[in-house]
Amino acid sequence: MSTNAKNTAASDNHAPASNFLRALIEGDLASGKNAQRTDPNGHPLPAVVTRFPPEPNGYLHIGHAKSICLNFGLARDYGGRCTMRFDDTNPTKEEQEYVDSIIDAVQWLGFNWKDEGGDHLYFASDYFDQMYMMAEYLISAGHAYVDSQSAEDMAKNRGSFSEPGKNSPFRDRAPDESLALFRRMRAGDFKDGEHILRARIDMASPNMNMRDPAIYRIRHAHHHRTGDKWCIYPMYDFAHPIEDAIEYVTHSFCTLEFQDHRPFYDWLLERLAEGGFFKRPLPQQTEFARLNLTYAITSKRKLLQLVEEKIVDGWDDPRMPTIAGIRRRGFTPESIQLFCERAGVAKADSWIDMSTLEGALRDDLDPKAPRAVAVLKPLKLIIDNFPDNLADDCTAPVHPHHPERGHRTFPITKEVWIEADDFMETPTKGYFRLFPGNKVRLRYGYVVECTHCDKDADGKVIAVHCTYFPDSKSGTEGSANYKVKGTIHWVSVPHALEAEVRLYDRLFTDPNPDAGGKDFKSALNPNAKEVITAYLEPGMRHALADEKFQFERHGYFVADRVEHAATRPVFNRGVTLKDSWGK
Ligand code: ATP
Ligand code: MG
Repeated sequence: MSTNAKNTAASDNHAPASNFLRALIEGDLASGKNAQRTDPNGHPLPAVVTRFPPEPNGYLHIGHAKSICLNFGLARDYGGRCTMRFDDTNPTKEEQEYVDSIIDAVQWLGFNWKDEGGDHLYFASDYFDQMYMMAEYLISAGHAYVDSQSAEDMAKNRGSFSEPGKNSPFRDRAPDESLALFRRMRAGDFKDGEHILRARIDMASPNMNMRDPAIYRIRHAHHHRTGDKWCIYPMYDFAHPIEDAIEYVTHSFCTLEFQDHRPFYDWLLERLAEGGFFKRPLPQQTEFARLNLTYAITSKRKLLQLVEEKIVDGWDDPRMPTIAGIRRRGFTPESIQLFCERAGVAKADSWIDMSTLEGALRDDLDPKAPRAVAVLKPLKLIIDNFPDNLADDCTAPVHPHHPERGHRTFPITKEVWIEADDFMETPTKGYFRLFPGNKVRLRYGYVVECTHCDKDADGKVIAVHCTYFPDSKSGTEGSANYKVKGTIHWVSVPHALEAEVRLYDRLFTDPNPDAGGKDFKSALNPNAKEVITAYLEPGMRHALADEKFQFERHGYFVADRVEHAATRPVFNRGVTLKDSWGK
């Protein structure tokens, strides 16, 4: 598996924690279960083959990221292969836009599907001919039949959890008759729902999925890749095991809701192996718990609703838990890999707290992101004794723990912007920043003493005045003579870079916005996006789209990858420096 080395195993500098899926693979490797496999040309096949099989009916979300990191990550870690498969067997909801966005998301996360054996990008729709042949085989072998009951009768005769189902009156149709009907289904002789192909298993099975499940249905619909070639389409439960087997998958990892489908998965592959379509060992399905993230929703259908109802500004809105959204929000591939590693793999459904995702971004960016000064809620500070036309250069490290990365320079002048919160006319207890009579350090600059403030007619503070101590400059000998309790950041008024800053926060106020059938739209956080005009240190004019920074004292920000331009800077807040939601 070729993978970008710098993107591996996130930034935790140790081997990934073991889990039951790793244990399973290691057991299979030890027993040599999949060791001797070859493809039809005699080329050896990897002993570990996984797949990531999204349906291209929406943008991927953080839950999919979990599946991607798991499937591609395990294949990488065990020298295997992970195939990228579009499960596009359902004609109506699928679109090329989604295919493109999914490819983009998986590659951005740091994975790819090429190895010495080739380019393992597949579309399930490419297997339609093979699937059709297999269905004909099952009919001929007596393992499937065409049922002509109405949908209502079929549902009624399926029984319930407490009652066995009833055999369809068409169940004992001769294979020849079923085959002829199936061919006519394919030829387009019937309307949607008139007939259906079912596996012949056991209508009394305690597992509803084994009560003669439907495997092919009539659907007169245009497919985004096969066009109008087909008017019958395979059901998911029939298609999925076949797709796995065609791609030589050894370990088919899926979420828990498919546990009850596993007996049919095994039944079908056994029948097809008997028919000579596949060689043993057959792919093995194993279930793990899906990722649920608090303060987010992970359902493509509901995310689509947010987009269609314009509650958010598209799939890549930085408030969205889509991969495109969190990417635009400023998350890195490494932070998401780290998050998935920390979320772990469980056998029972659980919720992972949003703070785990946010914490992964902080932990990834803290050692990497260059620092910058940004004043988000500006208030003017006038240094009355500062020379009128002086612009005195101050220096600051690009990164406090990496002196080798050099320093940045920005001037201090008579007027600087400070945060409105850094001044209080009448301080509260324990407030150490600016108030009349108090001294603070202007970070990387001078110590100043606050004298008074100016107010408008409504009593609102519009400027603060202070005097500075010329021998107190940071980095000079004199600076040690000044002991102050507060340090605040600032940007020179005439040099500041004006920027649009988008302060993003969690999209929902409820930790479980859609649990228990709740209307998730009633839990939207009205403050999840605030757009402000901020003043940045002048060197930020060189920021490139998608570049990440720590704005000192504020958090991690990214130059918006879509709208940022040197002529019109736009930054998104990924996450604040500290978690303000918990506790
Ligand atoms: P949704 O319910 O959002 O539509 P899905 O499961 O229908 O998701 P698929 O396109 O079928 O979406 O998913 C592709 C793969 O991603 C599947 O193997 C699925 O098991 C996995 N997956 C989807 N959601 C999650 C999740 N929340 N946690 C872990 N894996 C997930
Ligand atoms: Mg699905």
